[in-house]
Amino acid sequence: MFLAGKRALVTGSTSGIGLAIARALAAEGAKVVLNGFGDEAEIAKLCEELGATHSGADLTDVAQIEEMMAGTGGVDILVNNAGMQHVSPVEDFPVDKWDKIIALNLTAAFHTTRLAVPGMKEKGWGRIINTASAHSKVASPFKSAYNSAKHGLDGFTKTIALELAADGITANCISPGYVWTPLVENQIPDTMKARGMTRDEVINDVLLVKQATKKFVQPEEIGALAVFLCRDEAQNVNGANWSVDGGWTAE
Ligand code: NAD
Repeated sequence: MFLAGKRALVTGSTSGIGLAIARALAAEGAKVVLNGFGDEAEIAKLCEELGATHSGADLTDVAQIEEMMAGTGGVDILVNNAGMQHVSPVEDFPVDKWDKIIALNLTAAFHTTRLAVPGMKEKGWGRIINTASAHSKVASPFKSAYNSAKHGLDGFTKTIALELAADGITANCISPGYVWTPLVENQIPDTMKARGMTRDEVINDVLLVKQATKKFVQPEEIGALAVFLCRDEAQNVNGANWSVDGGWTAE
């Protein structure tokens, strides 16, 4: 329980990877603030299970981010994890989807960070963990907004890692390959359309083709790495972009 007494905000934690990170941090004693959308009763159950509170802030809206951050009363661990995907050829890419993906996957992390940093600096301790993606290092076609946002998140993380290092604050990216979550499942129909493939072809010939282990990453593996990054032993892990992608980006 080495995180007892620490407060952690995990954005996009009502589902998938964020929920696994929230569970892992709570298991080490952190007081967790969940964020994200979903069924109210299920979210209430999660809060009870984790001893957590919940903010339903829409992170594409700056005013809602500011309200959420003020409501947390300061966080020691900030996990910028909320994200969305859209798959489409660039010439057909809906403009509103581009704007939303950049807002949620990149700009929201800037806002939460700028609002969390003064409190971390005061305490002389902080951990900022950004869920990037293999797509922060390499691209795949038809994901122009997502690839741009995730490459940007990597650059943002390196920048703040340098700015905040002397204040006892580290900032790192975790970059998963394909993790079986609703975000991945929901992109299968559009990928089938964009590439003229069947569902099985999308899974085997697109999603897992570069993941050398031929296995989807489990959300719990990301949770375990997030916990490690919070340890004192990780105090010199700063500005890194950790791949958890079965070897995809080693090629
Ligand atoms: P998910 O769809 O299971 O979860 C997304 C979470 O974000 C949910 O809690 C949802 O309610 C929340 N959310 C969505 N829009 C929001 C908004 N406007 N404001 C606040 N919260 C919002 O997705 P996931 O697969 O767990 O993805 C989590 C992160 O991991 C994302 O940043 C994603 O890009 C990244 N990632 C996922 C994979 C993968 O294979 N699943 C791979 C690499 C990176």
